[in-house]
Amino acid sequence: MRLLCAKENEAGETRVALVPADAKKLIQLGFEVEVEQGAGVSAGFADDSYQAVGATINSDRQAALRSADVVLKIKAPTASDISLFKKDSLSVSFLDPFRQSELVEKFAVSGVRAVSLELIPRSTIAQKMDALSSQASLAGYAAVIHAAEKLDRIFPMMMTPAGTLSAAKVLVIGVGVAGLQAIATAKRLGARVTAFDTRPVVEEQVKSLGAKFLKIDLGKMEQTEQGYAKELTPGQLELQKKGMAKACAESDVVITTAQVFGRQAPRIIGKEMLSGMRPGSLVLDLAVATGGNVEGSDANGEVSINGVRVIGCLNLAATVPQHASQMLSSNMLAFITHFWDKENKRVRVDANDEIMRDCLLTADGKVFRKN
Ligand code: NAD
Repeated sequence: MRLLCAKENEAGETRVALVPADAKKLIQLGFEVEVEQGAGVSAGFADDSYQAVGATINSDRQAALRSADVVLKIKAPTASDISLFKKDSLSVSFLDPFRQSELVEKFAVSGVRAVSLELIPRSTIAQKMDALSSQASLAGYAAVIHAAEKLDRIFPMMMTPAGTLSAAKVLVIGVGVAGLQAIATAKRLGARVTAFDTRPVVEEQVKSLGAKFLKIDLGKMEQTEQGYAKELTPGQLELQKKGMAKACAESDVVITTAQVFGRQAPRIIGKEMLSGMRPGSLVLDLAVATGGNVEGSDANGEVSINGVRVIGCLNLAATVPQHASQMLSSNMLAFITHFWDKENKRVRVDANDEIMRDCLLTADGKVFRKN
């Protein structure tokens, strides 16, 4: 089987789907691995590092796409790329499946089997393939580092002959994978951290990291079978905003990561809350790609709202491309290895498998709808 690691073509995407060490493992499994010329350069992996492990560098993208049985890519391939894919080839990438229905349709009409990394179940057996977690974890870390660089104060408390500097106050809203890593990183830098999430089970995790959990009574809260938060009612959202206003006003940095799987991100910080914050304080909106948690946040970067610097953070994992690629590539390798049929030297695409059932969006010209 010929496996292609395609080059990312979206502006700002610095990661690569396969690193040389994993290319080597795939070759050992029995794949013929091709890497599009320059695919790994922005993540620190030169073409010759792939050649050194036995992969082939291909400078002709169209020819490479036409001949691949498996295509690994981070961002979804474009419609014109998909039209080049071989019938029954397997595409593995993030797909933004709930908002990219036309692209999903394109995969189906082209006879391509499309796997969406977002839909890999968050189960123990699939943990090694969980690309959402690997990238969210890095995003949480990078958000805090970014904030520490931008803030007009330092993070730790410092007692000096020139006076005592108090520790920065950081509020993390949404304590999933990114939020937990943001809390841990901000604590390591010496900040005083408070956090909130609508899932009550999170309180324990927040406290175990040495942060304070902000308690807001929103009534009975439930989560989905997969562990995802459910969407709040408008009334609950109002209660949440009221409950957060004081903590928000007292914070030097607010990091929002709140998401509801498959839906627009909840809008939890309005302009009135921003106006309660001190000028110069920072709000980093990590949910900006799905509509944003913060009113007025912009996916293209920083805006000033009443002197508060609101930063829309898209793809923070791409700011640490080498490690982000290493983790993503490991997720990809785990996925391919799991479905590798040793005897027949092919990838099994079995729609009844408990992992494949969730993440396979198209096969044999059909679209498998997910909730
Ligand atoms: P996510 O990116 O979907 O959401 C981020 C956080 O936002 C979540 O914690 C969610 O509860 C929270 N949120 C939603 N609405 C909110 C609101 N109005 N205000 C504040 N917070 C709000 O989450 P994720 O990081 O992808 O994690 C989702 C779930 O999957 C979690 O339960 C996590 O523990 C679980 N998970 C399990 C595994 C595993 O078992 N292998 C791996 C990773 C994650």
